[in-house]
Amino acid sequence: MIEVKNVTKRFGEGEFALTALGDVSLSIPEGSFYTLLGPSGCGKTTLLRLIAGFELPTDGEILLDGENIGYLAPHKRPVNTVFQSYALFPHMSVERNVGFGLEMLKRPKAEIDNTIAEMLELVQLGEFAARRVDQLSGGQQQRVALARALAPRPKVLLLDEPLSALDLKLRKGMQSELKRLQHETGITFVFVTHDQGEALAMSDHIAIMSAGALRQVGTPEEIYTAPTSRFVADFIGDTNIVNAELLAFEGDKAKIRFNDGSPLLVNAADTTLNPGPVHLALRPETIRVVDEADDTALLKGEVIDSTYFGAGSQMLVRLDDGVEVHAQVVVPRPMGSRVGLECDTDMLHILED
Ligand code: ATP
Repeated sequence: MIEVKNVTKRFGEGEFALTALGDVSLSIPEGSFYTLLGPSGCGKTTLLRLIAGFELPTDGEILLDGENIGYLAPHKRPVNTVFQSYALFPHMSVERNVGFGLEMLKRPKAEIDNTIAEMLELVQLGEFAARRVDQLSGGQQQRVALARALAPRPKVLLLDEPLSALDLKLRKGMQSELKRLQHETGITFVFVTHDQGEALAMSDHIAIMSAGALRQVGTPEEIYTAPTSRFVADFIGDTNIVNAELLAFEGDKAKIRFNDGSPLLVNAADTTLNPGPVHLALRPETIRVVDEADDTALLKGEVIDSTYFGAGSQMLVRLDDGVEVHAQVVVPRPMGSRVGLECDTDMLHILED
């Protein structure tokens, strides 16, 4: 539904020019919860502001339902934005804040009243309609901001780190609230965050960005279980990155070997890599700890630490090549003991560096 086609955004001129986005293309399906995730400065807010119309692209197109909206003024786009600072009118009542946009659009009074009631119901603030906004908690103010942005029934709602001002508990509550709102309204949500956990918990699709470029797009599960690059594997959680030797490709599988072990077939997003040293991502919860002498042991090393976390323990194993690997286990092996590590080979992915 939203197509970003070869969009470049540069700020400044000459030697001070900065490319915030370099030739970015992505498609955001209608009615989805789509998250732009990446570290500070990677360009996610710039991309959101281009979709909103607060910035114009240096190059490329932004299409909404096939129509180029890249050069339309913000108020001409069927798009609304919720900012990190809620930008509410503090002295006005909740209902006036929610109805403000509709008043500006000169909608009939009866329609405005109905929509305000409906929106306050949706964000569960019906009983606060007459309350001044500066007499509400942070979480309640955030709901008012959401109700106001949803009131004109935009096709697309853009959310720029809307939960970052809330404390952790409120934040978790608002995460499920936002998901519910997206589901109930069917409006496309484009959500910006630098918080991996938040992105995994809420999104239908995640686009991971770094340095003005897209690194990987997929469902939370795809991004988590099959990162294609070292950057994504590192950014998305406590992944282990281990060394191996790429021997050859067999169809879309890669034949690799750990140290002097037997060859095995694993996944690779890029089948044009040259044979030689490669890195693989290995999630701590996919590892099984076995005896060193066990035939199924893929990697071998020594237990150097173990941390109890309630539901199990996190063991730290120093592999024979010096790389340290976390493994999640129910019963940890004693410190200093030699162990073997195994996992299902379809959980192993070669990473682009
Ligand atoms: P954060 O999570 O910190 O908000 P971000 O991923 O949203 O970061 P952007 O705000 O999109 O990143 O910024 C991308 C790059 O563009 C940064 O290097 C930033 O300094 C630069 N930039 C953004 N807006 C402008 C502007 N108006 N003028 C000049 N440079 C800008």
